[in-house]
Amino acid sequence: MARPLRTCRCGHTKEHELVAEEPEYTLWGWILLSMFGITPKPDHVVYRCQMCRQSVGSTRDPKVLARKSAPKRPPAPDAEAPASSSGSPASDPQPEESPRT
Ligand SMILES: [Zn+2]
Repeated sequence: MARPLRTCRCGHTKEHELVAEEPEYTLWGWILLSMFGITPKPDHVVYRCQMCRQSVGSTRDPKVLARKSAPKRPPAPDAEAPASSSGSPASDPQPEESPRT
């Protein structure tokens, strides 16, 4: 059962690159965001065309919401191998406390 894809007035579906996932927050979310600088988990995500600002749908998919609430990290380049063959000494970032008696 194929449901018809909604399109904006430009004819973009939510798969289009110009259609962005925009997190929408609840009122409390906005309060958190503006007063405390906390990025709350969005209530839902709206697919909005960046050309005409028309929304072509929304989702409450927890995976999408989590992706929107988490800070964006650049994708790790998988062409480069991790620094294991460079022979650098492994340094402990946290000093180990040795209890002495
Ligand atoms: Zn559009």
